[in-house]
Amino acid sequence: MARYIGPVCRQCRREGMKLFLKGERCHTEKCAIEKRNFVPGQHGKDRKAKIVGYGLQLREKQKCRRYYGLLERQFRNLFEKASAMKGITGEVALGLLERRLDNVIYRMGFATSRAQARQVVRHGHVQVNGRKTNIPSFTVKPNDVVEVRENSRKNVTILAASEATAHQPTPAWLELDREAMRAKILTMPKREELVQIQLNEQLIVELYSK
Ligand code: SF4
Repeated sequence: MARYIGPVCRQCRREGMKLFLKGERCHTEKCAIEKRNFVPGQHGKDRKAKIVGYGLQLREKQKCRRYYGLLERQFRNLFEKASAMKGITGEVALGLLERRLDNVIYRMGFATSRAQARQVVRHGHVQVNGRKTNIPSFTVKPNDVVEVRENSRKNVTILAASEATAHQPTPAWLELDREAMRAKILTMPKREELVQIQLNEQLIVELYSK
C-alpha cells in the first residue's frame, strides 16, 4: 500500500495544530507549529478565510487521515467499512484506526511516530499471537498479543524509541510489559482513548455520506 512521503510539518501547519508526525522533534522548540504556526504557502500569513460547511468537514477529514498516516482511498474504505458495522459510524471508524497494528506499536512505545511504527511492522519486527505479521493495517482485537519478535529485541531503532517514550502513558486498553516488549489487547478502546487531538468525527461521516 502506498504512503505519503512528502514534507509532514506542513500538514500540521495546514491543520493549525500538532499532529505529532515526526517523533521526538514534535516535543521540542524546533516544531514548525512552535515556530511558524500559519498555513503553508505564499499567502499563508495573509488574513485567514473563515471556514464553514464543506470546508469544515474537509479539514476534519484531512486532520484525522494525516494523524493516522493513511492515504485517501484507504481512509475512505475504512469509513465505508465502519458504516456497515454496528455502532456510531464515526466512533467505530476511529476504533478501527486505533486498532491498526502500526498504531498499536506506536502506542506501546516501540516507535516514536506512526510512520516509524509502520516501518517497524513492514520490516518484519512484529508478531501477533506468535505469528510474524508485517501488515501495518492489520486490525487487532481483544485478547490478541502483540510483541516485538525475539530476533528484533536488540534492534537499535526499537530500543531508542522505547527509551524515548518511557515516560509516555500506556492506554488502558493495552497491558504492556515493556521489558518483554509485549502487550495484550484488553478491551476495545473507548472514544476518549482514541485520537488524541481535538476532532469531530461526525463531520467526516457527513462528508463521506454526500
Ligand atoms: Fe507536526 Fe511534529 Fe512537525 Fe511539529 S515537529 S509540525 S508536531 S510533525
